[in-house]
Amino acid sequence: MLNDRRCGALNTILHKTIKILSRYPLCDRCLGRLFAELGRGLDNSERGRSLKIVALMHLHDLMRKGELSIDDMSSICGNMGPEYEPLCSALGIKDVSYNKCHICGGNLEELIHRYSKEVAELVLREKVRRFLIGVKSLKEISKREREIAEEFGIDTWESVKSELKRVIGKHVRDVTGAQPDFEEPEAIFIIDVDKGITVERPSILILADYIKLGRGISQMPWVTKEGGRKYPLSVYDACSKLASVYNGSDIVIHAAGREDVDVRMLGTGRSLVIEIRQPRRRDVDLKLVEHVLNEYTKWLRFKVYTYVRREIVRRIKESGRTSYKIYRALVVVSKRIEMDDMERLEKFFHNREIVQRTPRRILRRKKDVVRIRKVFEVKTRKLSEHVFVALIRCEGGLYVKELVDGDGGRTAPSFAEVLGSPSYCAELDVLYVHKQI
Ligand SMILES: [Zn+2]
Repeated sequence: MLNDRRCGALNTILHKTIKILSRYPLCDRCLGRLFAELGRGLDNSERGRSLKIVALMHLHDLMRKGELSIDDMSSICGNMGPEYEPLCSALGIKDVSYNKCHICGGNLEELIHRYSKEVAELVLREKVRRFLIGVKSLKEISKREREIAEEFGIDTWESVKSELKRVIGKHVRDVTGAQPDFEEPEAIFIIDVDKGITVERPSILILADYIKLGRGISQMPWVTKEGGRKYPLSVYDACSKLASVYNGSDIVIHAAGREDVDVRMLGTGRSLVIEIRQPRRRDVDLKLVEHVLNEYTKWLRFKVYTYVRREIVRRIKESGRTSYKIYRALVVVSKRIEMDDMERLEKFFHNREIVQRTPRRILRRKKDVVRIRKVFEVKTRKLSEHVFVALIRCEGGLYVKELVDGDGGRTAPSFAEVLGSPSYCAELDVLYVHKQI
């Protein structure tokens, strides 16, 4: 036996259904969706049809007791939709004008059928194994269903967008064997009811290191005003070969900072994430990826680690700004170098803060600001009377060439200042970038 409270709950659903249908024509699916959170393993159209049949039985009972007029019964039947004509006429309710669904205009079943078929065809054609469905442009339908839910105090409803995504996704899975995947879909099918389907393929992100063995190699292609190339090689050029490997549209590289064109990147290399956009292939062996990257030129070497998620891009970029570096600089000094010059330099640049205004050589591209970076340690070896090598361990973001020459007083203190003689950095290599991803 059901207790009173449970009977009351049943009553509420039934009464709400009858109240709604007295005012609005609704198709099975749109009525059922208002009660989507009730019952499990049911389709909303099943919910809607069940509610309508129980409502019909209840109303029939009232009619028999003389508590409901034929006219009232007739108008509710009209709001159930044309497919209820046989049931209603069996109760003697004739000449009813059946109305289209107030929420979807009677179009929802057809939409579901059409897009299920189209997405399934795309999934099969593109050999997609993990997919996701998105739905756009249902403003009017969404607005009307929300209004009805509010008007009747219903808090068990599901949005039409969510239903379409779920129902179409299920159909596509059943037909194709591909799986819906919220975490890492190979393709996202965006259904725009006004414009049709667009396919988005989430980018592939690969974590790697690069080593730059030569000078005159930029990170991105450097195109001159005349449209030519200023430097024949770039890190990007090698990475762009991956577009065809993954059958993608294009490539973006996200590196942990950037060395100057004339600076070599040696040692353990610099981290970067290679992004392949709109890839049509996904599961490529990373050994092949490494091979393709290294085949491009002998001047660039790549070590490929793993596929990564988007959050790594932010962390890579951040680490470029904050991690410490070790440089090797070949320094030429105007005056003759004495042995105690080297000692003085090493002693002075120990945990020393350097104040730098944006170097003159990049003022055209960057704002004139002051930055403070620390030099932790300098080790030197004299090579000749005017030349020495310095190993410099410092914070990321320090302009090392200016640390050497002082940039006309814009960087202080500098090697030139401490040595008391004009000095400049003839060659520079990055030997180590501390990785903290
Ligand atoms: Zn509807």
